[in-house]
Amino acid sequence: MQMKFVDAHIHLSDKEYSGCIEEIIAEAKDSNVVALVSNSMDLETSIRSLRLTEQYPRMVYAALGIHPWNVGALAEEELQQVMELISEKRENDALIAIGEIGLDHKYAKIWDKQMMVFNEMLHLAERFDLPVIIHSRGTTAKIVEMLPSYNLKRVLLHWFSNPISVLSKAVENGYYITEGPPTAYSNGIREVVRRIPLTSLLTETDGPVRFFKQPFNGKRTTPAFIPTVVKSIAEIKSMEVASVAEQIVKNFEEFFRVRLHPS
Ligand SMILES: [Zn+2]
Repeated sequence: MQMKFVDAHIHLSDKEYSGCIEEIIAEAKDSNVVALVSNSMDLETSIRSLRLTEQYPRMVYAALGIHPWNVGALAEEELQQVMELISEKRENDALIAIGEIGLDHKYAKIWDKQMMVFNEMLHLAERFDLPVIIHSRGTTAKIVEMLPSYNLKRVLLHWFSNPISVLSKAVENGYYITEGPPTAYSNGIREVVRRIPLTSLLTETDGPVRFFKQPFNGKRTTPAFIPTVVKSIAEIKSMEVASVAEQIVKNFEEFFRVRLHPS
């Protein structure tokens, strides 16, 4: 049987990809990547993510939301528009999550506004029973501590790196984690992968973020990197690549509640 792969976190709606979406999708298909979740940053990228799901049905799925990096310049009106868009499209099968949302320690100056936006997004997820895809740079411990006060059934911590001490709590709470290209070269990320059960793990690229270490060498990030990520996970877990690939596809289907179709 042909192996299948998934990219649970890519910014397909990013301007950097706008001239080459066809190519990116073709590369994904050639690499047997059968589903991509286009994460959003603001209103514009949320609209674009939805449009991409129409252009590539059953291949591209959308996560809509406001990223903590976009909170600084965010007008109240835009926040309302994103919330209305999510509410309006919530029955759309291609809208499968709220993301990318979260808190970023680097922007501590606008902490209260970050917290306000994050809260709004979490309340929406609660209300519509949608999964959340969370960015938690420097804030993972705080986020894992605050999430249980919401009624959220499906939480994904994207690019979990530290503190490793919070990992078991996150897994215990039933949260999923996505890891990407650093799985091939970062000891910290490899340690995370070693410690979490495969049933809690998903794969991502976070493209167009670039990875400058081997074997990626700063090349344009595409879903075609996913098989390398899965190979690294298999190596870390001393498992067959095919079994890892199969479990991750299963995790994707369970977490996002979708049935994937071979491309
Ligand atoms: Zn991201």
